[in-house]
Amino acid sequence: MKYGVLVADKRAEVHQKDIPFVKEDEVLINNKACNICTTDYQQWLGDRHHQPYPMAFGHENSGVVIQIGSEVKNCKIGDHVVVNVYGPCLECSNCRKGKNSIYCKNSLVSNALKFPDENGMYGFYGCGEYQVAKGKHVFKVKKDLPFEEAGFVEPLATVIHGIHRLRVKKAEKVLVIGAGTMGLLNAQVASYYGADVIISELFENKLKTAKKLGFSKIINPNKDDIKEKMKEYLLEEGESLDAIIIAVGATSAYNQALQVAPKGCRFLIFAAHFPIPDWNLKPNPVHYNLWEIIGTYGCSTADYQEATALLSKRNINVNLLIDAKYHLKDIQKAFEDAVIPGKYRISITISES
Ligand SMILES: [Zn+2]
Ligand SMILES: [Zn+2]
Repeated sequence: MKYGVLVADKRAEVHQKDIPFVKEDEVLINNKACNICTTDYQQWLGDRHHQPYPMAFGHENSGVVIQIGSEVKNCKIGDHVVVNVYGPCLECSNCRKGKNSIYCKNSLVSNALKFPDENGMYGFYGCGEYQVAKGKHVFKVKKDLPFEEAGFVEPLATVIHGIHRLRVKKAEKVLVIGAGTMGLLNAQVASYYGADVIISELFENKLKTAKKLGFSKIINPNKDDIKEKMKEYLLEEGESLDAIIIAVGATSAYNQALQVAPKGCRFLIFAAHFPIPDWNLKPNPVHYNLWEIIGTYGCSTADYQEATALLSKRNINVNLLIDAKYHLKDIQKAFEDAVIPGKYRISITISES
């Protein structure tokens, strides 16, 4: 089988190995598409030295089940599926409480990034023609959902987790800073939960995409007076902002949030970046303004289920969040394209049939 590997900074290659053997509780998936995540292309750029090489990268992938072990009951051959890349054990006390998989000490993700496999590779082979996964980590998606769109289950699940943590309620006013892939997923999920969403973004092409997705309250901080625009959008109903989602890992985005946050504002820190952004946050305004600073990362099994359902029912539009498709053999070109600022997801087609 062929699979994509990050071998060094700015170097992605296609390698080959034997198709893995399936145990009783596992399934074999023939992957069809894998999208390049920010975490993948930041490693390619050389900005994530905590992620080791060689990395059999890929976790925003989807495919078809072609073989199942005797103990697997939740899917069958021919099902279109995605894999819960966090791989929680589902048995420890944190897993039984339904907590975020990052609390699980036995999760597959914690090992796959620390220890190489028998091939000397880190990672999950999500960008490989074949991938083995535990049956309990596999989620079915509708067969009419294109594979590259099904690849959005993982990022969408992390967004759903954040929106739950932020406690977004109906009719709340939510500002999303950043209209990249994660910003527009956050905006759509907040809107699905009934929030009135305002979007701030510097790239005009991204604001255009936000408009196409039905968001009319948009701000370009390079052109608009942010405070004036906010007033215009908020005064309509005489309300103040309830929450801000920071979905771009830039110092300017973090400081913009401080500029417009009213009393009682809840901040969701969705985006990380390397090198780490600066934030001029001081304790006094948090104290006097009753601000809440909420971090989010990863997701739970329930978030995966919800993401699978929302995508399968097309409640969330991800079609506009795919900029280009490349065949696996052109993997280096795909990464060169993915790192261009202003891009949405680049999808790698792994096998056509
Ligand atoms: Zn991702
Ligand atoms: Zn666990």
